[in-house]
Amino acid sequence: MKIYNTMTRRKEEFVPLEANRVKMYSCGPTVYNFIHIGNARPMVVFDTVRRYFERKGYDVVYVTNFTDVDDKIINRANEEGVSARAIADKYIAEVIKDEEGLNIRPPTRRPRVTDEMEAILDMIGELIDKGYAYEKNATVYFDAKKFKRYGKLSGKNIDELESGSRVEADGAKRNASDFVLWKPAKPGEPKWPSRWGEGRPGWHIECSAMVKRFLGDSIDIHAGGEDLIFPHHENEIAQSECANGAMFVKYWMHNGFLNIDNQKMSKSSGNFFTVREIVRKFSYDVIRFFILSAHYRAPLNFSEETIGHAENGLARIANCLKALDYIVKNVDKEEMTEEERENAKKIDVFVNNFEKAMEDDFNTADAISSIFELVKFANINVGEESSKEFARMTLDNVSALCDALGLRLRERKEAVDERFIEEKIAERQKARESKDYARADAIRSELKAMGVTIDDTAVGVRWTT
Ligand SMILES: [Zn+2]
Repeated sequence: MKIYNTMTRRKEEFVPLEANRVKMYSCGPTVYNFIHIGNARPMVVFDTVRRYFERKGYDVVYVTNFTDVDDKIINRANEEGVSARAIADKYIAEVIKDEEGLNIRPPTRRPRVTDEMEAILDMIGELIDKGYAYEKNATVYFDAKKFKRYGKLSGKNIDELESGSRVEADGAKRNASDFVLWKPAKPGEPKWPSRWGEGRPGWHIECSAMVKRFLGDSIDIHAGGEDLIFPHHENEIAQSECANGAMFVKYWMHNGFLNIDNQKMSKSSGNFFTVREIVRKFSYDVIRFFILSAHYRAPLNFSEETIGHAENGLARIANCLKALDYIVKNVDKEEMTEEERENAKKIDVFVNNFEKAMEDDFNTADAISSIFELVKFANINVGEESSKEFARMTLDNVSALCDALGLRLRERKEAVDERFIEEKIAERQKARESKDYARADAIRSELKAMGVTIDDTAVGVRWTT
């Protein structure tokens, strides 16, 4: 299995640090608002990565955090006249609601920064004691020049970074690349006691501290959006490797940007959608499928048209499953014929192609193409004349591949009322039996207007949406 490692800029064979175990961390959201479609991308992508490892039999320990103390949260709390904790609590609940909708499984551990202050303070203390950090005016900075490999992940050179930027006018920092580990609280802000006075942690230290606490000094995979490579992940490496004296991360995985109508997502220019806004028009399942329809490292363009394609694609798979389900339930012939047995070998080819795509740096785009090929095969080769065994085998394989990507299709709630449709179909049957063909056709048209297609087959009436 190959993973593209941002650190080495090439695909590498995945070899876990501990046999059969994957220790994986992904930077979580700052909880001050509903998540937007750009936030949803890493959540869906790395949930899919985790599912794939588990499918292969690995024991995955997946940790992701909630950043629940931050300027944006504090500003929002001040605007609404409530506590920062109340804002964080509210949006953590909303994030979880969206994740459930997107079929993102709960991580193994989900720490909140404000619950882990001890681990954070321990790590900052360690960095000071080892000479990698210094305190000035009740603020603790990491001394970037003390870490020789600083800039390795992002391909930046510390001397160039230094010459390209000015040290702040207050002169508190030794070097422009130094970053804050701890800062004093302004009046009214959330604060915690520390040996440098009351304050709160900088953003970068929280991930280093939580990785150490819940996963240990060294982990297999650290994931996040590519916008986090610099400075966030660069700073995490510096903190963790200096504090722990061990390699921090073996494989760095970063997902590409999500653009809106081919432009950079920007809240200020209104080029911005929350998942909750999109769900009014497209289902959560469509959003998940849309995100997985591109390779995770490629940029993904969100537009009415591109998500519309995803909706159609997903409907094609759902309709195939439904048709297969119907055939399995209604055909009489039990066992596979010789011809079917021969034909069934093609199913293995599609399944193998799916696996190959996933083994090659989680290429979900190609994996989905294999599902479509299998759907096409099913539509052509499985029908009322098929055996139950052959139909069942095809159905199970389509379902298994959808499950591997976390696509919920069979349990999907229909937008239309199934009972209503069944009643209409029964009414149409009665009309046909009494030779009232005009009435029968009118019912068919009525259902068609609702997006329901009915087919008269040898084994009864079949409907699809
Ligand atoms: Zn992080």
